[in-house]
Amino acid sequence: MSDKTVVEIKGVSKSFNDQDVLKCIDLTIKHGEFLTLLGPSGCGKTTLLRMISGFEEPTNGDIYIDGKNAKGLPPHERHVHTVFQSYALFPHMTVSDNVAFGLRCNGIPENEVKPRVEEALRMVKLENFGNRKPAQLSGGQQQRVAIARAVVNRPLVLLLDEPLSSLDYRLRKTMQMELRQLQRKLGITFIFVTHDQEEALSMSDRVVVMSEGVITQIGTPRQVYEEPACLSVAKFIGEVNIFETNVSSITDGKITVNIEGMPHTYPNKHNFSVGDKALVLVRPEDVRVYDSNEVTDTSNMYRGIVEDFTYKGTTVDLMVRLDSGKVLATTEFFDEDDDSLVYTLGEKVWLHWVNGWEVILPHEG
Ligand code: ATP
Repeated sequence: MSDKTVVEIKGVSKSFNDQDVLKCIDLTIKHGEFLTLLGPSGCGKTTLLRMISGFEEPTNGDIYIDGKNAKGLPPHERHVHTVFQSYALFPHMTVSDNVAFGLRCNGIPENEVKPRVEEALRMVKLENFGNRKPAQLSGGQQQRVAIARAVVNRPLVLLLDEPLSSLDYRLRKTMQMELRQLQRKLGITFIFVTHDQEEALSMSDRVVVMSEGVITQIGTPRQVYEEPACLSVAKFIGEVNIFETNVSSITDGKITVNIEGMPHTYPNKHNFSVGDKALVLVRPEDVRVYDSNEVTDTSNMYRGIVEDFTYKGTTVDLMVRLDSGKVLATTEFFDEDDDSLVYTLGEKVWLHWVNGWEVILPHEG
């Protein structure tokens, strides 16, 4: 990834029939970056992608591609290429002819077309499939053809609109890795759309989290997961326990809040005043659970009762009701040799979390 900007979105809004679906979007995308637009269905991800590709024009604002204002430029003059969820391959053409299509449309001489098509097919590991028709390929192979057909044109930016969503779980995982490797090898900017947070976190250099037509956070996968900027980001990316509380005192720049009957002290990063409402967020995997035999000093722990447990192979997930009545979700890595990870319904447990791993946010609304 370089520091050079390849796409710049400045104050872009989009309305359909007087309904605002994107509101004043600002976003700068770097050359060679793997950037993911992540958000729930209907938040405007595809609309933003379609405006970059030129299939839609913004209602307001400007999009610059490689430094040039793209206003009015048709899709084929933007040096961007879109890979759709449906692959959109030509069924009557062979794999090679599908991949060659864009080159031939652009008048590239035949003696150049052949080696470029072969190179693109090699890249997606389909060098022996050139003579097949799309219907003779699996879903994953068809997806690779769609990617080869896009990269053969050497676009500046590849736009991928939920390209893996119709693949089964295993193939999807494999394709995620292959796409990431391909992106690194090619050095092309990928703008990837998904509503799958795990996919976004595992593939991207940066994630753009969207909600109801606005960007709620831009950051690295770790930033958006570990330091969510607001409640909607925290809730959308992973599970989270939410405690609503008040700032009871402030001493030496640190706030004290009461969480389910126990005081906790944190740096005052949000400039809270005494009495302000605050949210304290704790991820389930940050909570440690102990059975009664495992602990001697319980002074800084919460007591609870196991209300539900789910064995998931690699993890065991619990729902624990605290004495206060609050129910907490916890996740622990499962170890078949560790008897303390075998729970029964109604079992009494103690729990706590590492001080400092919480996210503190101002109360919203
Ligand atoms: P999904 O993950 O379900 O694909 P998305 O985040 O990509 O959702 P968009 O497809 O961008 O969302 O749609 C955002 C909003 O804009 C939706 O309310 C949708 O109904 C509306 N919309 C999109 N295209 C049009 C259109 N051509 N005419 C009218 N409304 C549209």
